[in-house]
Amino acid sequence: MRLVVKVGTSTLAHSTGRLNIRRVEELCKVLSDIKNAGHEVILVSSGAIGMGMGKLGLTRKGADMPTKQAAAAVGQCELMYTYDKLFAEYNHTAAQILITGDDVDHEDRRANFQNTLFRLLELGALPIVNENDTVSTQEIEIGDNDTLAAIVSVCVQADMLVLLTDIDGLYTADPHKDPDAELIRVVEELTPEVIALGGGAGSSLGTGGMATKLHAAQIATEKGIDMQITNGSRPLDLYDIIDGKIVGTLFRGK
Ligand code: GLU
Repeated sequence: MRLVVKVGTSTLAHSTGRLNIRRVEELCKVLSDIKNAGHEVILVSSGAIGMGMGKLGLTRKGADMPTKQAAAAVGQCELMYTYDKLFAEYNHTAAQILITGDDVDHEDRRANFQNTLFRLLELGALPIVNENDTVSTQEIEIGDNDTLAAIVSVCVQADMLVLLTDIDGLYTADPHKDPDAELIRVVEELTPEVIALGGGAGSSLGTGGMATKLHAAQIATEKGIDMQITNGSRPLDLYDIIDGKIVGTLFRGK
């Protein structure tokens, strides 16, 4: 199985912006084991801006573009240092890929990106993708890593895209506000009613929210790729997903 896993800042970091060491260690262990079992894994990781902010003692609120970009430059190092160290413990080779919207919009650059990804997979490496935040400004940015992960899934013809986040999946209403909100297990069709459940953005650390996840579902399912949204606080759930179980919300590929 070729699996693209997207991990959000809220999963990787504490609310302080500093690394959630226990979580990241568990995630890297599970992904390494999944690779050992013969599956291919591509990780799309957020966290550069959030962790850079934490390291620089800044807060995201009100930060201007150059500050966010500076934070991304600092945080991306910490992120890759951590992944490299943890995956190396299990004998896996991490590879960093940073792209912008421009890279996937231009045919030749997209082809280069795909060639690199496929060669990394052939070589048994574990590609870790993020947006190149230090150079992406509004005109060329993909903007959020849910969309980026969906684009990556399409580029590598993944079997499944998993978005790990701070909520169990898509609910019939906002579970923080409505006690009757129910988790939706399967979405066969992205109807306007389903899209309306997306609402606004989520946590203060990352960029996405449910709306960007539904957008990602649109991109992936249109190309026949199944997508699951599930809670990143339980990396072990990835084993169940590999076994074909629905642990969060499954968006069925067309
Ligand atoms: N590229 C951003 C970062 O690494 C994350 C964007 C997102 O959270 O969707 O901080």
